[in-house]
Amino acid sequence: MTDFKDRYATSLMNTFGPPKLTLVRGEGAHVWDDQGKAYLDLLGGIAVNALGHAHPALVDAVTTQMRTLGHISNFFTSPTQVELAERLVEVLDAGPAKVFFTNSGTEANEAAFKLTRRTGRTQVVVAEGGFHGRTMGALALTSKQAYRTPFEPLPGEVTFVPFGDVQALAAAVSEETAAVLLEPIQGEAGVVMAPEGYLAAARQIADQHGALLWLDEVQTGVGRTGAWFAHHESGVRPDIVTVAKGLGGGFPIGACIGVGAAGELLEPGNHGTTFGGNPVACAAGLAVMNLIEAEGLRQRATELGQRLRAALAAEPRVVEVRGAGLLIGLDLADDKSAEVTAAALAAGFIINNPTPRRIRLAPPLILTDADADSFLAAWPGILDEAGL
Ligand code: PLP
Repeated sequence: MTDFKDRYATSLMNTFGPPKLTLVRGEGAHVWDDQGKAYLDLLGGIAVNALGHAHPALVDAVTTQMRTLGHISNFFTSPTQVELAERLVEVLDAGPAKVFFTNSGTEANEAAFKLTRRTGRTQVVVAEGGFHGRTMGALALTSKQAYRTPFEPLPGEVTFVPFGDVQALAAAVSEETAAVLLEPIQGEAGVVMAPEGYLAAARQIADQHGALLWLDEVQTGVGRTGAWFAHHESGVRPDIVTVAKGLGGGFPIGACIGVGAAGELLEPGNHGTTFGGNPVACAAGLAVMNLIEAEGLRQRATELGQRLRAALAAEPRVVEVRGAGLLIGLDLADDKSAEVTAAALAAGFIINNPTPRRIRLAPPLILTDADADSFLAAWPGILDEAGL
């Protein structure tokens, strides 16, 4: 039996709804389904496939490492683990910092959440509309009620404030606050940008009360926005940064980075993981970071992102376009993002609808001009097809 969608329904838990496609192969920014139909992947596994699909450098790095030394426990270290940690600290450019490796974004945030408890304080102030993951700790830090309600009570003393509202943040942070947690750009909310000066104000407010500033760059980090980290634009120095998604280019890896004193808060026995920092995952991370540097992909993300945003904004049925680099969000004139996403898929383009009116694009950083142009040429027809 080759109908994988039917077999999926029988054998996999129904947490994601029915899969839209069964994908069997990928190359560059393209993927193919089990019917042989090609798609341009403008979502990149949700901001993950920075180098696209089956990039030879990533494939080589992972297979070579697997052939050499695949897994060790955290009783030991490996060259790729140390080198990737050093490289992350270097590009973070915030002075001395220390890394805890994980397998995912939610785990990076769990590590950071535990780290904040080592301050002796328990309150975390978080922005509404933020998304930090689905494990119980990260879920406690995520405001969306539909995700939270079935699992309450959730851990922690978490206070939510409107994203971008400096006064609300100032009013919520006190001497009880262990950390202020923000995304520089809220990805899951549909690419909502922090207003100018917001991160700097958050830094100041956290400092006034001796709280840590924790930036979740799981979606925005590692070149996606054109900078190594989205917060670099603001000049702010955070205490904690969490990353995942694009770091492994498709191989699961995440990291919690503690800057300065925050990097010393977790002590032996406080936290652990079997797979986090695995030599193969770290080889993937190094390959991704090396390729981004060697091929100027941050610059590429900035330039292509600007071009895409300008072209998308020229369409009258699009009322707003936001983003940085190749993390792009747009608001449609009507609540038709599901129809638009379906019409795009039928036309051979993978895009995403994080809210009823918003479309998100997070394509591979290696997207070619020709790929981008093929989408822009099809876009008005996709909107027609969706009835917009
Ligand atoms: N934090 C942010 C900002 C995210 O966008 C996501 C995932 O979308 C997560 C955390 C959770 O990451 P993961 O799905 O790898 O657990």
